[in-house]
Amino acid sequence: MTPFREIRASRLADETGTLHKQADLAIALCYPSPYHVGMSSLGFQSIYRGLHALPGSSAERAFLPEDVAEARRLSDGLRTYESDRLVGDFPVLAFSLASELELAGLVTCLDLAGIPALAAERATHVRTFPLVVLGGPLTFSNPVPVGPFADVIVMGEAEELLPVLVQSLREKPDRETLTRDLAQRPGFYVPSLHGETPPPIAIADDNSLPAYSQIVTPHTEFGGMFLIEAERGCSRGCAYCVMRRSAGGGMRVVSPARLLSLIPAETRRVGLVGAAVTDHPALAEILRALVDAGRAVGVSSLRADRLDNEVVGLLARGGYRTMTTAADGASQRLRDQVDRHTQIEDLRRAARLCRDHGLALLKLYVLIGLPGETAADIDELARLALELAALAPKLSLTVSPFVSKRNTPLDHQPFEDIASLDDKLAFLRRQLRGRAHLSGDAPKWGWVEYRLAQGGFAEGLAAAQAARAGGGFAAWRRALSG
Ligand code: SF4
Repeated sequence: MTPFREIRASRLADETGTLHKQADLAIALCYPSPYHVGMSSLGFQSIYRGLHALPGSSAERAFLPEDVAEARRLSDGLRTYESDRLVGDFPVLAFSLASELELAGLVTCLDLAGIPALAAERATHVRTFPLVVLGGPLTFSNPVPVGPFADVIVMGEAEELLPVLVQSLREKPDRETLTRDLAQRPGFYVPSLHGETPPPIAIADDNSLPAYSQIVTPHTEFGGMFLIEAERGCSRGCAYCVMRRSAGGGMRVVSPARLLSLIPAETRRVGLVGAAVTDHPALAEILRALVDAGRAVGVSSLRADRLDNEVVGLLARGGYRTMTTAADGASQRLRDQVDRHTQIEDLRRAARLCRDHGLALLKLYVLIGLPGETAADIDELARLALELAALAPKLSLTVSPFVSKRNTPLDHQPFEDIASLDDKLAFLRRQLRGRAHLSGDAPKWGWVEYRLAQGGFAEGLAAAQAARAGGGFAAWRRALSG
């Protein structure tokens, strides 16, 4: 394995926008997945900039190592990129979590840093350990399983909570006073005081939008793109989705003038990010301005019913080669049932636009295992995929199992039997062989996600056990069945 110092030096050399600051309060900002995942997260980047911008505070990044087994063997600690300092020497560790499965990465990072993973253990230890603060998109659905590991959890959109947190960290004399004080304030969940009932999420003022990249690096999922939020939230109401309008107060759009003014002049590649970017009423205007300036563009999410000649033509001029969109429900009946409302004709049009504008690939996301799904729904999906494969230059189907999330109308719906989901995938693979590529999350990992998405403290503790037992599925099943 390449030593951390070499990896760090080469990655820092490839970054633009890295921040360095001497401050009274230095926070280790950790991502519980490897570097290329963490640096692809606009939320993580935005918190990094936000902490640096506040008086008296700074942030240094650390990530889950790529080779966890080797990192455990070396016992060299977890170190920051900015100064190569041990994370365990910082007064505060802040983690951003995007998904349930990152809970294992959180426990591993704390283990590598030599910090007791459980907040209760840290509180009674003779040594003083850093305060562990968690936040991120996971808090929109169910942060309770991460509760046993956190001293404080920042719920929802953090922009306006950060100054409150930093001020409290700088002023409060001891941990108990600090956590008691924060527990009284909106948006802060202190699991040792609130138990398994988190307070509501915070929604930031529209003036704090948009989030945008601080550091641009080729080592991300978007390869050197400057990312910027074109909108936040979604005005639609898909019954399975935590981003639906009721969760975040609907869609909040960023004006073209504001968005374009925040893109550095030298930027050649721009990614527009948001839950529903194609619902932005001025999307064509923004794309045209970017493409006319000779910039390459990417868009994080395309709604098939919003695609037309103009938008796809601009994307193609901006170097877009893979059209990514979602059908979600396997059949029209299921899509209507879960308020997705994408029509077959929308998907056919997307496939034709892909072909007409010379794109290379249509990538379609689908959910299987929605409540009430039958073999007839899966048959319809196979027929639709074959039809789209004939219309588009190439089709790739990404199939994921439905996982019921908190704060959605489909909360508490069961997870379909893993073997039954595997059978459906095998059927689709046979039907599409040689005509379309099929990939997606294995149903067994969907089951783990489901147990955490619907779980409480006990499931979080099981995740720690699974992470320490190697993190394989057998370890998760044992831990979650115990
Ligand atoms: S699935 Fe997409 S369109 Fe539907 S509510 Fe969620 S973000 Fe909006």
